[in-house]
Amino acid sequence: MSDVQATPMVEARGVHKVFGHGAEGLHVLRGVDLAVPRGSVTVILGPSGSGKSTLLRCLNELEQITAGSVHVDGELLGYREDAQGVLHRLHPTRIAAQRSRIGMVFQRFHLFGHLTALENVMEAPVQVRGLSKRAARTRALELLDRVGLTDRVEHYPAQLSGGQQQRVAIARALAMDPELMLFDEPTSALDPELVGEVLTVMQDLAASGMTMVVVTHEIGFAREVADHVVFMDDGAIVEQGPPAEVLDRPSEPRLQEFLAHVL
Ligand code: ADP
Ligand code: MG
Repeated sequence: MSDVQATPMVEARGVHKVFGHGAEGLHVLRGVDLAVPRGSVTVILGPSGSGKSTLLRCLNELEQITAGSVHVDGELLGYREDAQGVLHRLHPTRIAAQRSRIGMVFQRFHLFGHLTALENVMEAPVQVRGLSKRAARTRALELLDRVGLTDRVEHYPAQLSGGQQQRVAIARALAMDPELMLFDEPTSALDPELVGEVLTVMQDLAASGMTMVVVTHEIGFAREVADHVVFMDDGAIVEQGPPAEVLDRPSEPRLQEFLAHVL
């Protein structure tokens, strides 16, 4: 294997996150180590408040970590190391450039309500990348086709179901050609009958080779699609491994209890 392939797409080492300061500080991540190989799917499970969203947000610099390091594609996020090994915070435009390589899909879809599905997908490539409208439109139509929405491109978010809106959100994230996609409970806000269409799109994306980190309670998705399952509790990774081990032969009592509730 070449070095390029051996470098994980994501490597978090000793990541701590504290919100606030001093005695008031809330220590939300307590030394998280995580490696996500290229082209793999990692599913993160854990009870509410265990730090799953915070970890995802640290992986794309929506939150600044308190200690530790995160590398994406071998590049340190947020900092540059000088010849003396001292870290310097990167300029915000550089941080924005790093972030633009990482797509994120949230529980709530965050679409622009005044733009059509097509315009939502075209927005960032035109505004951020300076792509021509014509090129952005061609690409957006391809992506909306890929998520099964060819017949909805001129619809506004309010005219779409939750599942359709989430698929537009996925297409919108893909429009920036991310190397890594992060999903934070992408189906939790959906009516049960709409969950499947979003999971199918995510499964197709995984099959196409996208590197994905997915916070979800959909154990079936974890079992079928994940290469690696991580269970977090209280700001730490308590157990991790292949789905068949973590889901079917959990060793940690806290994981056993969690699975008994979600299954
Ligand atoms: P999960 O996604 O696993 O439910 P979160 O990462 O959202 O957990 O939250 C973990 C803990 O961090 C919770 O106690 C939450 O209240 C706290 N938290 C999250 N974001 C912030 C913030 N911006 N400021 C202060 N506390 C926060
Ligand atoms: Mg969360």
